[in-house]
Order: sequence, then C-alpha cells, then structure tokens
Amino acid sequence: MIFYVVATPIGNLDDMTYRAIRVLSNVDVILCEDTRTTKNLLNHYKIITRTMSYHANSDDGKENTIIKMIKEGKTLALVSDAGTPCISDPGVRLVKRLYEEFPHISVQAIPGANALISALSISGISVAEFTFLGFVPHKKGRASFFGKVAQSEIPVVFYESPHRIMKMLSSLTNVLEKNTHHSIIVARELTKIYEEVVRGSAIEVLSYFENHPDHVRGEFVVIVSPK
Ligand code: SAM
Repeated sequence: MIFYVVATPIGNLDDMTYRAIRVLSNVDVILCEDTRTTKNLLNHYKIITRTMSYHANSDDGKENTIIKMIKEGKTLALVSDAGTPCISDPGVRLVKRLYEEFPHISVQAIPGANALISALSISGISVAEFTFLGFVPHKKGRASFFGKVAQSEIPVVFYESPHRIMKMLSSLTNVLEKNTHHSIIVARELTKIYEEVVRGSAIEVLSYFENHPDHVRGEFVVIVSPK
C-alpha cells in the first residue's frame, strides 16, 4: 500500500521529474488542491489520470472517501497547486490520518520543486542552518513574528504575498532600524519569466520596490540573514 506525495513545478512546467510524470501517469487517482490548475500540468504531459479535489477546506467526509478508495486497493497521489505538498500547502492532516488508519502504509515523497529551498539555493548566504516561518501573519502574531526575525541568529525564511510585500518590508525596516547587521534577500517569481533576486539592507530592498512598482507582483520568498 503506497500513497505518493508528489512535488510539481513552482512556475516553469519543465520542472517535473521523470519519476513524478511516471507516478502521476500510473496512479488510479490524483488528489489536487485545485483540479483546474493541475489539469494544465497533466495536459502538458498528456497524463489522463482521474483527478479529485482535496484542499485546505476538505472535510472528514472527503478524507473518509479517500480512505475507502485506499481500502479498495486504489493507489493515490497528492499534489498541490505548485511545489511540494504539505509545505505551507494542504495535505498534512490527510497524511497524518493515513498513518493512523493504515499502520503499514508507505507514504512516499516524489521530490521536486519547492520555493523556499530554491530561494535559499541562490541566496548566496550560508544556510547550514535556517528557520522557516511559513507565511507572515496578517494581524495577530505580527509583532512577535518580526521580533523573532530580528532576534534570530540564523537566517529566517518566509513566504509573502504581492499584496502585503510592501507592508512587510516597512515592518522589517522598522524592526531592523537600529540593527544594520542584516541582509535581506527577496526572491521573486522563481523559475518564471520575470524571476529576480533583490538583495540589500531592509531599507535598500524597500526603496528598490518603491522605485519599481511594476515589480510588486508575482510570488515572493523572503530571507533575512544576520551578517
Ligand atoms: N508548497 C509550496 C512550495 O513547495 O514551495 C508553497 C506553497 S505556498 C501556498 C505559496 C507561496 O510560496 C507563495 O505565496 C510564495 O510566497 C511562495 N512561492 C511559490 N512559488 C514561488 C515562486 N515561483 N517564486 C517565489 N515564491 C514562490
């Protein structure tokens, strides 16, 4: 009994592994965060496997259906809209439930693209150790989030949306104001046409985006590194 957790591209459709294509072609059903998004990828690779939705709001009933399918002998794979499932993406609750329901199940990772690891790999900073904080909290927990970032002695990585990137950079500028010993690396639109990496102090990176409002779009990974 195998359940596959399959990484898919974070932008460039060519970033699929041979193994991911083979697994997605051969399983009975692919569980997708958004079936329409995954269909684009499947069509690109002429994969005709049946899809079923499984997302952040999927309830116990959906999980029961999945468990029943596995009991019937079906092999399933989980994908998210982009990158590695369960990393700031749906799937954790399902995988936990599978271990509880099927003590002998083999949950297998089909590794591939991941935004935070891609950003770290081109950051130019030493990442022998780092902390990943997921998404910046919108309201509650924001102050303690930035406190944690400012005080960390190792690089901190997080995800931010284009709607809040400027607010995040001003918060970072404020919190790091008296501390000039940080490098900020913003990796935008990785693997896509407008991919770019912006590096500097918090104020320098903030000014860059203030001066290039057309770059305040797409997807962002932010790294804050004590020098
Ligand atoms: N599971 C995904 C992974 O493995 O990277 C992350 C999913 S999370 C819901 C989506 C966030 O990841 C985006 O808001 C952005 O912060 C980051 N992200 C995803 N694709 C990206 C890309 N191509 N370039 C930069 N950041 C990206």
